[in-house]
Amino acid sequence: MKPTVYICREMPEELIAPVREHYEVRMWESTSEAVPRDVLLREVADVDALWTVISDQIDEEVLNAAPSLQLIVNMAVGYNHIDVQAAAARNIIVTNTPDVLTETTADLAFALLMATGRDLIGAENALREGRWTSWEPLGFTGTDVYGATLGIIGMGRIGEAVLRRAKGFDMDVLYHNRNRKSEMEDMYGCRYAELSDLLASSDYVLILVPYSEETKGMIGEKQLSEMKETGILINVARGGIVDEDALYDALRTKKIHAAGLDVFETEPVPLDHPLLTLPNVTVLPHIGSATVKTRKAMMKLNVEALLAFAQGEEPNHQVRG
Ligand code: NAP
Repeated sequence: MKPTVYICREMPEELIAPVREHYEVRMWESTSEAVPRDVLLREVADVDALWTVISDQIDEEVLNAAPSLQLIVNMAVGYNHIDVQAAAARNIIVTNTPDVLTETTADLAFALLMATGRDLIGAENALREGRWTSWEPLGFTGTDVYGATLGIIGMGRIGEAVLRRAKGFDMDVLYHNRNRKSEMEDMYGCRYAELSDLLASSDYVLILVPYSEETKGMIGEKQLSEMKETGILINVARGGIVDEDALYDALRTKKIHAAGLDVFETEPVPLDHPLLTLPNVTVLPHIGSATVKTRKAMMKLNVEALLAFAQGEEPNHQVRG
Protein backbone atom coordinates (compact mmCIF):
# COMPACT_ATOMS: atom_id res chain seq x y z
CA MET A 1 0.00 0.00 0.00
CA LYS A 2 1.26 3.49 -0.88
CA PRO A 3 1.91 5.98 1.94
CA THR A 4 -0.32 9.06 2.12
CA VAL A 5 0.81 12.67 1.82
CA TYR A 6 -1.27 15.73 2.63
CA ILE A 7 -0.26 18.91 0.75
CA CYS A 8 -1.29 22.07 2.61
CA ARG A 9 -1.52 24.29 -0.51
CA GLU A 10 -2.41 23.59 -4.12
CA MET A 11 0.83 22.92 -6.01
CA PRO A 12 1.27 22.68 -9.81
CA GLU A 13 0.20 19.29 -11.15
CA GLU A 14 3.39 18.81 -13.19
CA LEU A 15 5.37 18.86 -9.93
CA ILE A 16 2.99 16.57 -8.08
CA ALA A 17 2.78 13.97 -10.86
CA PRO A 18 5.90 12.02 -9.74
CA VAL A 19 4.66 12.15 -6.12
CA ARG A 20 1.41 10.43 -7.18
CA GLU A 21 3.42 7.42 -8.37
CA HIS A 22 4.60 6.80 -4.79
CA TYR A 23 1.90 8.32 -2.58
CA GLU A 24 -1.83 8.61 -2.17
CA VAL A 25 -2.03 12.39 -2.55
CA ARG A 26 -4.57 14.59 -0.79
CA MET A 27 -4.33 18.36 -1.10
CA TRP A 28 -5.92 21.58 0.17
CA GLU A 29 -7.11 22.84 -3.20
CA SER A 30 -6.42 26.54 -2.89
CA THR A 31 -3.32 28.46 -3.88
CA SER A 32 -4.30 31.64 -2.02
CA GLU A 33 -6.06 30.52 1.16
CA ALA A 34 -4.28 28.68 3.98
CA VAL A 35 -5.69 25.31 4.97
CA PRO A 36 -8.07 25.97 7.92
CA ARG A 37 -6.84 24.62 11.22
CA ASP A 38 -9.76 22.20 11.70
CA VAL A 39 -9.25 20.76 8.21
CA LEU A 40 -5.52 20.32 8.85
CA LEU A 41 -6.16 18.57 12.19
CA ARG A 42 -8.64 16.23 10.49
CA GLU A 43 -6.51 15.55 7.40
CA VAL A 44 -3.31 14.63 9.30
CA ALA A 45 -5.04 11.81 11.20
CA ASP A 46 -3.83 9.09 8.80
CA VAL A 47 -0.98 10.69 6.83
CA ASP A 48 2.62 9.48 6.58
CA ALA A 49 3.91 12.74 5.12
CA LEU A 50 2.94 16.39 5.19
CA TRP A 51 3.97 19.17 2.74
CA THR A 52 3.78 22.54 4.50
CA VAL A 53 4.18 26.24 3.72
CA ILE A 54 4.99 29.02 6.20
CA SER A 55 1.38 29.77 7.13
CA ASP A 56 0.88 26.25 8.57
CA GLN A 57 1.55 26.14 12.31
CA ILE A 58 2.82 22.63 12.96
CA ASP A 59 2.79 22.40 16.74
CA GLU A 60 2.20 19.69 19.35
CA GLU A 61 -1.53 19.73 18.67
CA VAL A 62 -1.02 18.90 14.98
CA LEU A 63 1.67 16.31 15.74
CA ASN A 64 -0.55 14.65 18.36
CA ALA A 65 -3.33 14.47 15.77
CA ALA A 66 -0.97 12.73 13.30
CA PRO A 67 0.07 9.40 14.88
CA SER A 68 1.50 7.92 11.64
CA LEU A 69 3.34 11.06 10.46
CA GLN A 70 7.00 10.38 9.60
CA LEU A 71 8.02 13.23 7.29
CA ILE A 72 7.32 16.97 7.00
CA VAL A 73 8.65 18.71 3.88
CA ASN A 74 8.52 22.46 4.24
CA MET A 75 8.49 24.93 1.35
CA ALA A 76 10.79 27.52 2.98
CA VAL A 77 14.26 27.71 4.46
CA GLY A 78 12.84 29.18 7.70
CA TYR A 79 11.03 26.60 9.82
CA ASN A 80 10.04 28.53 12.94
CA HIS A 81 6.38 27.62 12.28
CA ILE A 82 7.24 23.95 12.90
CA ASP A 83 7.97 22.58 16.37
CA VAL A 84 11.08 20.69 15.21
CA GLN A 85 11.93 19.48 18.75
CA ALA A 86 8.50 17.94 19.17
CA ALA A 87 8.81 16.42 15.69
CA ALA A 88 12.26 14.96 16.51
CA ALA A 89 10.90 13.50 19.75
CA ARG A 90 8.42 11.56 17.59
CA ASN A 91 11.13 10.56 15.05
CA ILE A 92 9.48 12.73 12.41
CA ILE A 93 11.95 14.01 9.80
CA VAL A 94 11.61 17.69 8.85
CA THR A 95 13.18 19.06 5.64
CA ASN A 96 13.46 22.61 4.26
CA THR A 97 14.58 24.35 1.04
CA PRO A 98 17.93 26.10 1.57
CA ASP A 99 20.34 27.32 -1.15
CA VAL A 100 17.87 27.44 -4.07
CA LEU A 101 16.33 30.67 -2.69
CA THR A 102 19.54 32.33 -1.50
CA GLU A 103 20.30 34.58 -4.49
CA THR A 104 16.63 35.45 -5.09
CA THR A 105 16.15 36.50 -1.46
CA ALA A 106 19.42 38.46 -1.53
CA ASP A 107 18.16 40.29 -4.65
CA LEU A 108 14.97 41.22 -2.79
CA ALA A 109 16.87 42.27 0.34
CA PHE A 110 19.04 44.57 -1.74
CA ALA A 111 16.06 45.87 -3.72
CA LEU A 112 14.19 46.68 -0.49
CA LEU A 113 17.29 48.35 0.93
CA MET A 114 17.57 50.57 -2.16
CA ALA A 115 13.83 51.24 -2.34
CA THR A 116 13.78 52.28 1.34
CA GLY A 117 16.96 54.35 1.14
CA ARG A 118 15.74 56.31 -1.88
CA ASP A 119 12.02 56.13 -0.94
CA LEU A 120 11.10 54.80 -4.36
CA ILE A 121 7.54 53.91 -3.38
CA GLY A 122 6.93 57.34 -1.80
CA ALA A 123 8.27 59.03 -4.93
CA GLU A 124 6.12 56.89 -7.23
CA ASN A 125 3.02 57.55 -5.14
CA ALA A 126 3.75 61.30 -5.23
CA LEU A 127 3.96 61.20 -9.03
CA ARG A 128 0.74 59.20 -9.42
CA GLU A 129 -1.10 61.49 -6.99
CA GLY A 130 -0.09 64.67 -8.86
CA ARG A 131 2.36 65.87 -6.20
CA TRP A 132 5.26 66.16 -8.72
CA THR A 133 4.61 69.78 -9.53
CA SER A 134 8.13 71.11 -10.05
CA TRP A 135 11.82 70.27 -9.62
CA GLU A 136 12.86 71.06 -6.05
CA PRO A 137 16.49 71.34 -4.94
CA LEU A 138 15.83 68.96 -2.03
CA GLY A 139 12.72 67.29 -3.40
CA PHE A 140 12.42 63.49 -3.17
CA THR A 141 15.90 63.17 -1.66
CA GLY A 142 16.96 59.97 0.08
CA THR A 143 20.00 58.23 1.52
CA ASP A 144 22.95 57.03 -0.57
CA VAL A 145 23.52 53.31 -0.95
CA TYR A 146 26.82 53.51 -2.83
CA GLY A 147 29.66 53.83 -0.31
CA ALA A 148 27.38 53.56 2.76
CA THR A 149 28.03 51.30 5.75
CA LEU A 150 25.92 48.14 5.81
CA GLY A 151 25.53 46.06 8.98
CA ILE A 152 24.33 42.51 8.33
CA ILE A 153 22.92 40.65 11.34
CA GLY A 154 23.11 36.94 10.45
CA MET A 155 25.96 36.19 8.05
CA GLY A 156 24.65 32.91 6.67
CA ARG A 157 23.85 31.92 3.08
CA ILE A 158 21.65 34.94 2.30
CA GLY A 159 23.83 37.30 4.35
CA GLU A 160 26.86 36.33 2.27
CA ALA A 161 24.91 36.73 -0.98
CA VAL A 162 23.93 40.27 0.08
CA LEU A 163 27.53 40.97 1.06
CA ARG A 164 28.64 40.16 -2.51
CA ARG A 165 26.07 42.60 -3.88
CA ALA A 166 27.11 45.28 -1.36
CA LYS A 167 30.74 45.02 -2.47
CA GLY A 168 29.62 46.02 -5.99
CA PHE A 169 28.23 49.20 -4.41
CA ASP A 170 31.52 49.85 -2.59
CA MET A 171 29.76 49.52 0.77
CA ASP A 172 31.69 49.11 3.99
CA VAL A 173 30.21 45.90 5.43
CA LEU A 174 30.05 45.00 9.12
CA TYR A 175 28.43 41.79 10.28
CA HIS A 176 27.24 40.25 13.49
CA ASN A 177 26.82 36.49 13.69
CA ARG A 178 26.72 33.70 16.26
CA ASN A 179 30.05 32.45 14.92
CA ARG A 180 32.78 34.60 13.45
CA LYS A 181 33.52 33.91 9.77
CA SER A 182 37.24 34.66 9.34
CA GLU A 183 37.41 33.22 5.80
CA MET A 184 34.64 35.56 4.67
CA GLU A 185 36.38 38.50 6.33
CA ASP A 186 39.56 37.70 4.37
CA MET A 187 37.71 37.09 1.11
CA TYR A 188 35.45 40.16 1.12
CA GLY A 189 37.08 42.55 3.56
CA CYS A 190 34.02 42.68 5.82
CA ARG A 191 34.43 43.16 9.57
CA TYR A 192 32.89 41.38 12.56
CA ALA A 193 31.18 43.67 15.09
CA GLU A 194 29.37 43.21 18.37
CA LEU A 195 25.68 43.98 17.92
CA SER A 196 25.86 47.40 19.65
CA ASP A 197 28.83 48.49 17.54
CA LEU A 198 27.15 47.33 14.34
CA LEU A 199 23.96 49.24 15.20
CA ALA A 200 25.84 52.42 16.09
CA SER A 201 28.05 52.39 12.98
CA SER A 202 25.72 51.30 10.17
CA ASP A 203 23.75 53.45 7.74
CA TYR A 204 21.73 50.34 6.84
CA VAL A 205 21.06 47.47 9.27
CA LEU A 206 19.86 44.30 7.55
CA ILE A 207 18.40 41.41 9.55
CA LEU A 208 19.02 37.91 8.19
CA VAL A 209 19.05 35.64 11.26
CA PRO A 210 16.50 32.81 11.58
CA TYR A 211 13.63 33.34 14.03
CA SER A 212 14.30 31.38 17.23
CA GLU A 213 14.01 31.70 21.00
CA GLU A 214 17.42 33.47 20.84
CA THR A 215 16.53 35.96 18.12
CA LYS A 216 12.92 36.71 19.14
CA GLY A 217 12.80 40.44 19.97
CA MET A 218 16.55 40.76 19.23
CA ILE A 219 15.90 44.28 17.91
CA GLY A 220 13.90 46.15 20.55
CA GLU A 221 13.78 49.64 22.05
CA LYS A 222 17.38 49.51 23.33
CA GLN A 223 18.84 48.28 20.04
CA LEU A 224 16.85 50.81 17.99
CA SER A 225 18.10 53.59 20.27
CA GLU A 226 21.66 52.50 19.48
CA MET A 227 21.16 53.09 15.74
CA LYS A 228 22.05 56.34 14.00
CA GLU A 229 19.22 58.88 13.66
CA THR A 230 19.83 58.61 9.92
CA GLY A 231 19.88 54.79 10.15
CA ILE A 232 17.63 52.53 8.09
CA LEU A 233 16.46 49.10 9.31
CA ILE A 234 15.68 46.37 6.78
CA ASN A 235 14.05 43.09 7.87
CA VAL A 236 13.85 40.27 5.36
CA ALA A 237 14.13 37.46 7.95
CA ARG A 238 11.08 37.04 10.21
CA GLY A 239 8.73 39.53 11.86
CA GLY A 240 9.14 38.55 15.51
CA ILE A 241 12.87 39.33 15.47
CA VAL A 242 11.97 43.04 15.63
CA ASP A 243 9.70 44.39 18.37
CA GLU A 244 7.11 46.11 16.18
CA ASP A 245 5.82 48.44 18.93
CA ALA A 246 9.37 49.65 19.60
CA LEU A 247 9.98 50.04 15.85
CA TYR A 248 6.79 52.07 15.46
CA ASP A 249 7.89 54.43 18.26
CA ALA A 250 11.42 54.75 16.88
CA LEU A 251 10.12 55.60 13.39
CA ARG A 252 7.35 57.92 14.58
CA THR A 253 9.68 59.93 16.82
CA LYS A 254 12.43 59.90 14.15
CA LYS A 255 14.90 58.07 16.41
CA ILE A 256 15.73 56.19 13.21
CA HIS A 257 15.14 57.43 9.68
CA ALA A 258 13.24 54.62 7.95
CA ALA A 259 12.50 50.90 7.76
CA GLY A 260 11.94 48.40 4.98
CA LEU A 261 9.95 45.32 5.97
CA ASP A 262 9.25 42.16 3.99
CA VAL A 263 8.08 40.28 7.11
CA PHE A 264 5.76 40.92 10.06
CA GLU A 265 4.84 39.34 13.39
CA THR A 266 1.38 38.57 12.00
CA GLU A 267 1.11 37.73 8.31
CA PRO A 268 -0.65 38.92 6.26
CA VAL A 269 -0.08 42.14 8.23
CA PRO A 270 -3.46 43.62 9.28
CA LEU A 271 -4.25 46.76 7.29
CA ASP A 272 -4.85 48.73 10.50
CA HIS A 273 -1.34 47.92 11.79
CA PRO A 274 0.24 51.14 13.20
CA LEU A 275 3.40 50.64 11.11
CA LEU A 276 1.33 51.03 7.94
CA THR A 277 0.33 54.56 8.99
CA LEU A 278 3.92 55.81 8.82
CA PRO A 279 5.37 57.41 5.68
CA ASN A 280 8.92 56.27 6.47
CA VAL A 281 8.17 52.53 6.19
CA THR A 282 8.43 50.55 2.94
CA VAL A 283 6.43 47.34 3.17
CA LEU A 284 6.27 44.17 1.09
CA PRO A 285 4.11 41.01 1.44
CA HIS A 286 6.88 38.50 2.33
CA ILE A 287 8.22 38.11 -1.22
CA GLY A 288 11.90 37.29 -0.54
CA SER A 289 11.93 34.08 -2.58
CA ALA A 290 9.12 35.06 -4.94
CA THR A 291 10.30 34.38 -8.48
CA VAL A 292 8.73 31.63 -10.58
CA LYS A 293 12.10 29.90 -11.04
CA THR A 294 12.93 29.89 -7.34
CA ARG A 295 9.48 28.92 -6.07
CA LYS A 296 9.50 25.97 -8.51
CA ALA A 297 13.01 25.01 -7.38
CA MET A 298 11.76 25.03 -3.76
CA MET A 299 8.82 22.80 -4.71
CA LYS A 300 11.21 20.47 -6.55
CA LEU A 301 13.36 20.08 -3.41
CA ASN A 302 10.22 19.17 -1.45
CA VAL A 303 9.27 16.61 -4.11
CA GLU A 304 12.77 15.11 -4.02
CA ALA A 305 12.53 14.72 -0.24
CA LEU A 306 9.14 13.02 -0.56
CA LEU A 307 10.43 10.64 -3.26
CA ALA A 308 13.62 9.80 -1.33
CA PHE A 309 11.58 8.95 1.74
CA ALA A 310 9.12 6.78 -0.23
CA GLN A 311 12.08 4.85 -1.67
CA GLY A 312 13.61 4.22 1.75
CA GLU A 313 16.42 6.79 1.31
CA GLU A 314 17.45 9.62 3.64
CA PRO A 315 15.83 12.86 2.41
CA ASN A 316 18.23 15.79 1.89
CA HIS A 317 18.06 19.08 3.82
CA GLN A 318 16.88 17.73 7.16
CA VAL A 319 16.59 20.35 9.92
CA ARG A 320 16.94 19.86 13.64
CA GLY A 321 16.08 22.24 16.46
P1 NAP B 1 21.45 30.47 7.36
O1 NAP B 1 22.40 30.16 6.24
O2 NAP B 1 21.17 29.43 8.38
O3 NAP B 1 21.98 31.80 8.06
C1 NAP B 1 21.52 32.26 9.27
C2 NAP B 1 22.70 32.93 9.99
O4 NAP B 1 22.20 33.49 11.19
C3 NAP B 1 23.80 31.93 10.35
O5 NAP B 1 25.04 32.45 9.92
C4 NAP B 1 23.71 31.84 11.87
O6 NAP B 1 24.95 31.71 12.52
C5 NAP B 1 23.14 33.20 12.22
N1 NAP B 1 22.48 33.16 13.54
C6 NAP B 1 21.57 32.28 14.00
N2 NAP B 1 21.19 32.60 15.25
C7 NAP B 1 21.89 33.70 15.58
C8 NAP B 1 21.94 34.52 16.73
N3 NAP B 1 21.21 34.23 17.81
N4 NAP B 1 22.77 35.58 16.74
C9 NAP B 1 23.54 35.86 15.66
N5 NAP B 1 23.53 35.12 14.53
C10 NAP B 1 22.72 34.06 14.49
O7 NAP B 1 20.04 30.89 6.78
P2 NAP B 1 19.71 31.65 5.41
O8 NAP B 1 19.44 30.65 4.35
O9 NAP B 1 20.71 32.73 5.19
O10 NAP B 1 18.29 32.30 5.82
C11 NAP B 1 18.19 33.20 6.90
C12 NAP B 1 16.75 33.48 7.26
O11 NAP B 1 16.16 34.30 6.27
C13 NAP B 1 15.83 32.25 7.30
O12 NAP B 1 15.92 31.57 8.53
C14 NAP B 1 14.47 32.81 7.04
O13 NAP B 1 13.80 33.09 8.25
C15 NAP B 1 14.76 34.11 6.31
N6 NAP B 1 14.26 34.08 4.92
C16 NAP B 1 13.28 34.96 4.55
C17 NAP B 1 12.80 34.97 3.26
C18 NAP B 1 11.74 35.94 2.82
O14 NAP B 1 10.97 35.61 1.93
N7 NAP B 1 11.67 37.12 3.38
C19 NAP B 1 13.31 34.06 2.32
C20 NAP B 1 14.31 33.18 2.73
C21 NAP B 1 14.78 33.20 4.03
P3 NAP B 1 25.83 30.36 12.54
O15 NAP B 1 26.84 30.57 11.48
O16 NAP B 1 26.38 30.32 13.89
O17 NAP B 1 24.87 29.22 12.29
